[in-house]
Amino acid sequence: MTVLVVADLLQGPENAAVAPATLNTVAAAAKIGGDIHVLVAGQNVGGVAESAAKIAGVAKVLVADNAAYAHALPENVAPLIVELAKGYSHVLAPATSNGKNILPRVAALLDVDQISEIISVESADTFKRPIYAGNAIATVQSSAAVKVITVRTTGFDAVPAEGGAAAVEAIAAAHDAGQSAFVAEQLAQSDRPDLSAAKVVVSGGRGLGNGDNFKHLYSLADKLGAAVGASRAAVDAGFVPNDMQVGQTGKIVAPQLYIAVGISGAIQHLAGMKDSKVIVAINKDEEAPIFQVADYGLVGDLFEAVPQLQELL
Ligand SMILES: Cc1cc2nc3c(=O)[nH]c(=O)nc-3n(C[C@H](O)[C@H](O)[C@H](O)COP(=O)(O)OP(=O)(O)OC[C@H]3O[C@@H](n4cnc5c(N)ncnc54)[C@H](O)[C@@H]3O)c2cc1C
Repeated sequence: MTVLVVADLLQGPENAAVAPATLNTVAAAAKIGGDIHVLVAGQNVGGVAESAAKIAGVAKVLVADNAAYAHALPENVAPLIVELAKGYSHVLAPATSNGKNILPRVAALLDVDQISEIISVESADTFKRPIYAGNAIATVQSSAAVKVITVRTTGFDAVPAEGGAAAVEAIAAAHDAGQSAFVAEQLAQSDRPDLSAAKVVVSGGRGLGNGDNFKHLYSLADKLGAAVGASRAAVDAGFVPNDMQVGQTGKIVAPQLYIAVGISGAIQHLAGMKDSKVIVAINKDEEAPIFQVADYGLVGDLFEAVPQLQELL
C-alpha cells in the first residue's frame, strides 16, 4: 500500500514553497499506513522538491517540473496524477483551493467517487467527514481501487517539515491539455499571518457596523500576531474582502485562539471555526449562539471591550 500526497504549493515566482497544508495531509497519509510519496508539480520547483524531501515520514518525492504545471492548472495537473495513480492505493490532497480544483477531476477521470474533506482515518478504507455544514459526521467506506481523498487540514496535526530524507525522482511526463492558460493573479498583500494557518485569529461580524471599524480588530490582531477574519454578513456588507470570510462557504480555520467579535454564531460560521482550540466571543446579546461554543464569553459592547482589551495587552 502506497499513498500519493499531492503537495499544495505556495505560489510565487522566486519563493515557491510547499504550503503548510501539505504537512497536515502527510499526517493523514501516515494514519492510513504504508509508504508515502509526495508529488510536487510546478515550474522551477527543484528547491520545493528538496524541501518536500525533508518532510518527516515521506519515502519519495516525485517532481514534475514543467511549464505546463505552473500555477497548478487543473486541466494539466489532473492527467498527470491519473497517470501516476495506477501505482497507488490512495491519492490525497489538502482541501485547499488547488486540492478542491484538481482532485474531483482526478476522481472523475479514474471513474471513482471522491471522498471529500476527511477529518479522521478509521482504517485504510474508512474515513470520517463532516456533512450538513458540520452538523453530522458521516463514516464512509470506499471499495474503490484507488481512493481519491481531500483532507480537511484542521483535522490532522501537521507532521514536522524537517527530519525526513526522501529520495527525489523526476517525472518526465508533461501534459499540456491546451484547454486553459494562466492570465494573471492578484495576490492580497498582508503583513499579518495567513488566515488558514494562523495560530490566533480575530474575526469581526456585522456588529462592527462598517469597514472602517475593522481598524479596531486590525490593531488588536497586530498586538496578538493574529490574522483577521470575518463573517459572511461582514463580507456581504462590503466591510472587508471575501478572502477574509470564515465559515462553510469561506475558510476553515482551527487556530489555538479564535476571538469572535460582533458575530452571532450562525451554524454556517461555526462550520468554519468551531474546531479552534480556545474560542472567545464578544457580543452584546447574551443569547447569541456563539456563546454556546465559546470557552470564554464577554457580554458587552465591542466598542468598549476591544479598546479595553487592547489597552491591557
Ligand atoms: C448557504 C449559506 C452559506 C453561508 N456561509 C457562511 C460562511 O461561510 N460564513 C459565515 O460567517 N456565514 C455564512 N452564512 C451566513 C450565516 O447564516 C449568517 O448570516 C452570518 O454568519 C451572520 O453574520 P454575523 O454573525 O456577522 O451577523 P449577525 O447574525 O447579524 O450578528 C451580528 C452580531 O453582532 C452583535 N453585535 C451588534 N452590535 C454589537 C456591539 N456593538 N457589540 C457587540 N456585539 C454586537 C449582535 O448581537 C449579533 O449577535 C451562510 C449562509 C448560507 C445560507
